[in-house]
Amino acid sequence: MSLDVLSETRDNRLFRESCFVGGKWVPASGDDRIAVTNPANGETLGHVPRLGTDETRRAIESAAEAWPAWRKLTAEARGAILYRWHELMLAHEDTLATIMTLEQGKPHAESAGEIRYAASFLKWFAEEARRAYGRTIPPAAAGQHIVVLRQPIGVAAAITPWNFPSSMITRKAGAALAAGCPMVVKPASATPFSALALAVLADEAGVPAGVFNVVTGSAREIASEMTSNPLVRKVSFTGSTEVGSALMRDSAANVQKVSLELGGNAPFIVFDDADLDAAVDGAIAAKFRNTGQTCVCVNRFYVHEAVHDTFVEKLRHRVEALRLGDGLDPETDVTPLIDSAAADKVLSHVEDATSRGATLVSGGRRHDRGENYVLPTLLTGIRHSMRVAQEETFGPLVAISTFHDEQEAIKLANDTPFGLAAYFYSENVHRVWRVAEGIEAGMIGINAGLISNAAAPFGGVKASGLGREGATEGLDEYLETKYLLMG
Ligand code: NAP
Repeated sequence: MSLDVLSETRDNRLFRESCFVGGKWVPASGDDRIAVTNPANGETLGHVPRLGTDETRRAIESAAEAWPAWRKLTAEARGAILYRWHELMLAHEDTLATIMTLEQGKPHAESAGEIRYAASFLKWFAEEARRAYGRTIPPAAAGQHIVVLRQPIGVAAAITPWNFPSSMITRKAGAALAAGCPMVVKPASATPFSALALAVLADEAGVPAGVFNVVTGSAREIASEMTSNPLVRKVSFTGSTEVGSALMRDSAANVQKVSLELGGNAPFIVFDDADLDAAVDGAIAAKFRNTGQTCVCVNRFYVHEAVHDTFVEKLRHRVEALRLGDGLDPETDVTPLIDSAAADKVLSHVEDATSRGATLVSGGRRHDRGENYVLPTLLTGIRHSMRVAQEETFGPLVAISTFHDEQEAIKLANDTPFGLAAYFYSENVHRVWRVAEGIEAGMIGINAGLISNAAAPFGGVKASGLGREGATEGLDEYLETKYLLMG
């Protein structure tokens, strides 16, 4: 089945094996290219160029050349182009989703959901472009005027991960382009075809040459040019904390403005006054979306000791009912992980926990479909020192601990270097406020398992990042403040 869909998709003009620089398609030079495989079956889907320093410099220069005309357009005109890009994404939702499932693995329905989510950022920022307001301030001396302008920062560079191949790009590019900044994007090498399909549609929507560029290739070379080239005034990264902090260090030389959307270690607390059925629904959504491979996926469950057994039993039924398979099969809930190293990591967390006293309730091994497939897994009796409680698992593993009182739950939730998302379930309004204020995280789902939304500021605290994407804050990341004093 996969091959049939692939050949249909290959004929489609959205499937490109070249990069997009300065409005032109740049093919690989000879054999210097990267193979992209389908994680469901290991088939090679195609190849993309392995570009490096020189091509990245050219992309940055073409963005810099395109900048003056792009920033001069009215916000309304830029918004109209972004809105057309959003419409084109929706018109091609099925093809874009198929390309995404083939290279990333997630269920086709989730890919289609990501395409709509990705397009929603273009729409949001198309509208937000017109609200890059400055302000006037009462002056300190008579006869003076103080005016604050908001101006586009300049050429922006973006590096994005494989787990959300489209939306992590539009969340950045929508904001950058709306603010009047051109962008050069380096997508993850595992999922470049979704990014290149976005470039086809940006071009069709009327984004001028040089304003949106996609370069694939050596992460180190591309990133090093992005952080060392003085034309780049903004670097926006989504990915692991390790790479993000290295980029922050590298961009210090040119004092580039940096946004970092990094890893998480999300807690999910179930209090004894929670609606347990709602908590189980939220747990499934917050844990198993993209087979556990999202930065906001729950990593640690803390369940009050009085409701632990009931919660575990209800959750076990739901976990064991999840259907594992190829994302192109509509009957699939959970899919292969991105590669076998990702599966190894999940199983190493299971091994570490069970060898130190945790109980394996379900799953805990690979499925015979292949080395990237891990069965939905449920562990109880987790202790805070186990690897699964300390590191981002990024897979279909539910790890449950108990707690005794509210203070202990908050302390456990905060006892991590990360602070991206957190979730808790409680029907007590006083507790809801206490816990929401006490948890150190950028985003909190209260009686809710899905929190992402273009209108809300997405981002983390502590080692989970700097800056926000989406919302009004997302546009601010690409604007500079200039103050004028008129005497
Ligand atoms: P990753 O290894 O950090 O890769 C992310 C991007 O960085 C890819 O484009 C990658 O390129 C590039 N890269 C790798 N090594 C680099 C280097 N030395 N210098 C510069 N760039 C480099 O992360 P990932 O495995 O793709 O993504 C998973 C991580 O992203 C998780 O930790 C997850 O929590 C986080 N994430 C965070 C958010 C958020 O909004 N906070 C959203 C999604 C994911 P190649 O692919 O070519 O190696």
